[in-house]
Amino acid sequence: FVIPEWLDFISHIEEFYWSVKGLTGGKVASYIPQLARFSPDHWGVSVCTIDGQRYSIGDTDIHFTMQSCSKPVTYAIALNELGNETVHKYVGTEPSGRMFNAIVLDYNDKPHNPLVNAGSILVNGLLQSLVKPDMSSSEKFDYVQQYFKRMAGGEYVGFSNGTFLSERENADRNFSLGYYMRENKCFPEKCDLMASLDLYFQCCSMEVTTESMSVMAATLANGGICPITGDQVMQPNAVRDVLSLMHSCGMYDYSGQFAFKVGLPAKSGVCGAIMLVIPNVMGVCTWSPPLDSLGNSVRGLKFCEEMVQVFNFHRYDNL
Ligand code: GLN
Repeated sequence: FVIPEWLDFISHIEEFYWSVKGLTGGKVASYIPQLARFSPDHWGVSVCTIDGQRYSIGDTDIHFTMQSCSKPVTYAIALNELGNETVHKYVGTEPSGRMFNAIVLDYNDKPHNPLVNAGSILVNGLLQSLVKPDMSSSEKFDYVQQYFKRMAGGEYVGFSNGTFLSERENADRNFSLGYYMRENKCFPEKCDLMASLDLYFQCCSMEVTTESMSVMAATLANGGICPITGDQVMQPNAVRDVLSLMHSCGMYDYSGQFAFKVGLPAKSGVCGAIMLVIPNVMGVCTWSPPLDSLGNSVRGLKFCEEMVQVFNFHRYDNL
């Protein structure tokens, strides 16, 4: 086993879980009712190792939408289907240094990276126009969701239509980003902007639990092979690119600090989840809705920081 002292390991996970549970700071996202309704008390953690050992504690079977945690997955699908040369003709690989939904492009008039809103809308545009271009939008949704499900090893991946509709109705900024990018000729020629935005909102509205998201993270930790099914969902070079950008761009404007302190690829979402990848070891999902001023889950962040203080998971711990 990759973690030989399993019982000892999970007793530490429990300890971090309980020590972080009492934190009270942060605010639950309120821009749509489907997120605002969540209790600030929810707190769940799941881990899944690359050899399939599992542990979950707290609110681990409540359905929540992935929101920005879907961005590395849609990016992975695009890389796996199109290759990184094609994908990065359209989107950069640099942290933006700006808010995740800022209306800004890089020096080449591309969105900065696939993990900010502009970049993810663009990547959804690539999925819409270049991957299986003959599919209808309903088939395209099924096709994309199927990828999410395979990454989760068949565990719960649903869809919140209420969230999707709310996202679309409260999306002036995302529409602005879409038009701004179209004005700057960021999308491939045949790309349908409205269909691309719909696919983006649909990916944000994919529903998971901490358990199923920990398997997705474990699939990334395992180079694209789902550890509970053995299914090769992604090519390892696609996963490598995804993890590289999660490392530098996954935690909003805390990404640099997170890379320094925790030293692991991660992606957080406005739902309050963090998808954390410990390459060649395990996937972790934490979920607690209250967010700090930069948009990261207060409890999730503290959990990650406590974990690397005890275990040498930081990328540069083993020098
Ligand atoms: N649906 C949200 C948006 O597009 C996702 C943002 C997030 O999780 N940070 O604004």
